[in-house]
Amino acid sequence: MKIKLLGKNLEELKQIVAEEGLPGFTAKQIAQWLYVKKVRSIDDMTNLSKAARAALSEKYEVGLVEYAGLQISSDGTKKYLFPVRCPHRRGLNAGSDGSIPEEELESSAVEAVMIPDDDRATLCVSSQAGCRMGCRFCMTGRQGFHGHMSASDIISQFIAVDESDRLTNAVFMGMGEPLDNYENVMRTIEILTADWGFAWSPKRITLSTIGVLPNLKRYLDECRCHLAVSLHDPFGPERLRMMPVQGAWPLKDVIDLIRQYDFTGQRRVSFEYTMFAGFNDTKAHADALVRMLRGLECRMNLIRFHKIPDFPYETSSDIVIENFKNRLNNQGLTTTVRASRGEDILAACGMLAGEHAAKEGK
Ligand code: SF4
Repeated sequence: MKIKLLGKNLEELKQIVAEEGLPGFTAKQIAQWLYVKKVRSIDDMTNLSKAARAALSEKYEVGLVEYAGLQISSDGTKKYLFPVRCPHRRGLNAGSDGSIPEEELESSAVEAVMIPDDDRATLCVSSQAGCRMGCRFCMTGRQGFHGHMSASDIISQFIAVDESDRLTNAVFMGMGEPLDNYENVMRTIEILTADWGFAWSPKRITLSTIGVLPNLKRYLDECRCHLAVSLHDPFGPERLRMMPVQGAWPLKDVIDLIRQYDFTGQRRVSFEYTMFAGFNDTKAHADALVRMLRGLECRMNLIRFHKIPDFPYETSSDIVIENFKNRLNNQGLTTTVRASRGEDILAACGMLAGEHAAKEGK
């Protein structure tokens, strides 16, 4: 099995060209072919000598994962399905970049969603096949954990989608908890923001987490991209009923950590709040949110819930959501309601991959 070049950073490419006896500048040329010109094959790297391409091809391949399924919404939202190969022994780090023997990997599927909005095209990417965080309202959590995605698989989503050259923003909000696959997500962000890579500003990228505290601290220390936190309930015992993570890393500790960082400049923090009728949508919840976040420069996004099977709650009504929003705004917490996109293509994260898995008998 060949090793994938996609997902390597410049340092690793330098090591590879040194091992192959190629000139040092070849590493930057390869990075350009991979991340700027987005070639599918080493043979297409035409400013490398034929001998260099032949030498590289012995051990390496580009390794792009092309999408295997696509649904297009009437509002232009596109949901892509990607096949991935992940290690079935949980101790192994991440799947298909060629570093783990093929027989150690099993097939799974993840989704990436492209959301067009005026002159923006935002890609919502997955970072794990399935998820082990077990949030009760989430289809991905229901499917269990199938493995960490390699940086190669994560970056493939950015290159393989039809809109690759006109993407303006990225959100790590697809399947999986990105801070549970820290190294590979950070490698992907390095490739997206490096001048030898996609050369995106960190302002174009938002990572969304439920609050994996140790890696959240690393992220805030090491990365300048935006942060979104899935909050969903200000009251600990209630939040625990929906999100087991609350038992390990309580929301209060997450907020205390966030308060230690500066969000008055370019980096922004926002909070995601899915509205469940009769569960977390009362005046008491709104007022507790205001108290919890008082003095923090942040924004709140309210999200309508897409009903999933065997889950007792439905989304709050439009009027309740509007009143909740107004109550927060009136007390100084800047709040918007996220527009629902792609409803006709099963917008809830994990549904397309779940259907795929069902068809494959997984
Ligand atoms: Fe995992 Fe996010 Fe779903 Fe929770 S909401 S189970 S963290 S994918």
